[in-house]
Amino acid sequence: MARKFFVGGNFKMNGTVASIKEIVKNLNDAQLDPNAEVVIAPPALYLPLVRESLRKDVEVAAQNVYNKPNGAFTGEISVSQLLDSGATWTILGHSERRTILGETDEVVAAKTKFATENGLGVIWCCGESLDEREQGITVDVVSKQLAALKAQVSDWTRIVIAYEPIWAIGTGKVATNQQAQEVHAAIRAWLRKEVSETVADETRILYGGSVNEKNCRDLAKETDIDGFLVGGASLKPAFVDIINSTQ
Ligand code: PGA
Repeated sequence: MARKFFVGGNFKMNGTVASIKEIVKNLNDAQLDPNAEVVIAPPALYLPLVRESLRKDVEVAAQNVYNKPNGAFTGEISVSQLLDSGATWTILGHSERRTILGETDEVVAAKTKFATENGLGVIWCCGESLDEREQGITVDVVSKQLAALKAQVSDWTRIVIAYEPIWAIGTGKVATNQQAQEVHAAIRAWLRKEVSETVADETRILYGGSVNEKNCRDLAKETDIDGFLVGGASLKPAFVDIINSTQ
């Protein structure tokens, strides 16, 4: 089965009502590749605004979710609340949540299990630090993150994997096509060996880290790159060019 090209926009902790309305208008007015699946992740408090005003062929995602039903969890947002607000996806395990908020591989896996079992799609992020890349242990690091996920998750159909080398996020230092392809191929080989042929063939593996309208076309040509998770550039009109990068 061909893997549908997937582009996620991660707004992170950016935007105001006014600027987010402008991003939505820009997407609503644009010609988007009908063969690309597009999901944008504004800060949670703007999800209803975005869902109500955004074209229906673009889905919305949260940037995080908690792995418990509703209840006494101050400051958290539940899966059912996200679904209620029209979000159909969430990002989980972004490196900023792992490194700044201290989320472990196990916490990320538990959240992924809970979210997927309760009806949300998950953009599950992994990736190595600069130090880990320089030590030559990139594939080991990513395999360990994947193993923690596999230990808790059995249904992979709602999971999209985003490989995001930490040293490339928000730095303007994009991985070379070859560096990205190598790790994507290693992730797919891991899925083939550790999960199944079908999951390896069908799971989308996105690249994230300083993707922009200039580098996206060449990256998208790589065999195992099935789309992008875009941070900074998702706030700009150029996001449309990234969505359309295989046209
Ligand atoms: P960036 O962020 O595109 O700004 O590098 C990517 C991400 O963190 O998902």
